[in-house]
Amino acid sequence: MTVEAVQVPVYRPFPVQVARLQRLSPSFLRVTFTGVDLDDFATNGYDQRIKVMLPLPGRDISDCPADPDWYGAWRALPEDRRMPIRTYTIRAVRPELREVDVDFVLHGATGPASAWAETAAVGDEVVLIGPNARFPGATGGFEWHPPADASCLLIAGDETAVPAICAIVETLPAGRRAHVLLEVPVAGDALNIAAPDGVEVTWLPRWTEGSTPAPRGALLTAAVVEAVRELADVLAPTPVELDDVDVDTGILWEVPVEQTRSSGVYAWLAGEAGVVKGLRRHLVQEVGVDRRSVAFMGYWREGRESD
Ligand SMILES: Cc1cc2nc3c(=O)[nH]c(=O)nc-3n(C[C@H](O)[C@H](O)[C@H](O)COP(=O)(O)OP(=O)(O)OC[C@H]3O[C@@H](n4cnc5c(N)ncnc54)[C@H](O)[C@@H]3O)c2cc1C
Repeated sequence: MTVEAVQVPVYRPFPVQVARLQRLSPSFLRVTFTGVDLDDFATNGYDQRIKVMLPLPGRDISDCPADPDWYGAWRALPEDRRMPIRTYTIRAVRPELREVDVDFVLHGATGPASAWAETAAVGDEVVLIGPNARFPGATGGFEWHPPADASCLLIAGDETAVPAICAIVETLPAGRRAHVLLEVPVAGDALNIAAPDGVEVTWLPRWTEGSTPAPRGALLTAAVVEAVRELADVLAPTPVELDDVDVDTGILWEVPVEQTRSSGVYAWLAGEAGVVKGLRRHLVQEVGVDRRSVAFMGYWREGRESD
C-alpha cells in the first residue's frame, strides 16, 4: 500500500445539512443531504452502506471528532459524549450537486435515528460517514456480488432493505431472471421501482385495510419458501449443518466473497436478524442452497438497539 493510501481514509466524516425532505409513503422518508465537500463522496451503488452520526440531544455536530482517526477518537470519548451512529444505505449520490439521498424507515421515536427522522427539518445537521472519492483504492462497503453465471436471482428483505433492494434492482440488465420480495408495514409502502423486464417484484404489506396485521417476517418467509420451490430447476442442493448465531448478542452477517461460478441461484437477503436467520436455515439447511451463493444480512434486531 502506498503512503497516500495509508493517509487518505477509505471512509470519512462528511458534515451535512438537510436540503429537502420527501415523504415517499407512510413508512419512508427520503432525506436529501447537502454539504460543501459532498463532491468527494464516492459510491459503488447497489447496497452501498454508510453511517449516520446524529447530534446528541441539545447539542450540535461539533461533537464529531475532527481527528483523522475519527473512530478511535469517538471511542475514546466518555459514552455520554459519543454521538450515536447508525447504519443506512445510499439511495442516490449526485456529487456534481453535492447531494446524497438516504431513505429512512419511520419506526417511531424509539431510537436516535428514527427519532431524528420523525422531526427532521430543512437545515438540520448530521454527519455522514461515507466512502471517500480521494481514496486511491476500492472503497467497498457493499455486498451485492452475483456470479456472472447465476441464472436466477432471489432478492428479499424487509422495509430497512427496501432502499438497497431498489438501488440493486434498478441496475439489473433487462432479461435477467429475478424474484424480488419486499415485506413492508402497510400497502401504501409499495414504492415504484424501475424494474427491467424479467424482474418480478412482489410487495408484501403486513397490514392492509380491514385485515389483522401479519406477524413480522411471516409473509416474507412464506414468499421466500415459495420462490425457492419454484427455483428447484436451477438449484444444486448440498445440505450442510450451520453454526448457530445468537442474534440477540451477535451479528448475523454472512456474505460470499466475489465468485465467478454459482450453483445456479444467487440470493441476497436482509432485514430483521431473527427473520433472516430463519431464511438462512431454510435455504441452506433444509433446501440445500450452496451457502457460498447467498448473502444473509441482519440489518437490525427486534428489541435491541444498534450500536
Ligand atoms: C447495511 C445496513 C443498511 C441499512 N439501511 C437502512 C436504510 O437505508 N434505511 C433504514 O431505515 N434502515 C436501514 N438499516 C437499518 C437501521 O440501521 C436500523 O433500523 C437501526 O436500528 C435504526 O436505528 P434507530 O436509532 O432508529 O433505532 P435503534 O436505536 O437501533 O433501536 C431502537 C429500537 O427500535 C427498534 N428498531 C430498529 N429499527 C427498526 C425498524 N425498522 N422497525 C421497527 N423497530 C425498529 C430496535 O429493535 C430497538 O428496539 C440498515 C442497516 C444496515 C446494517
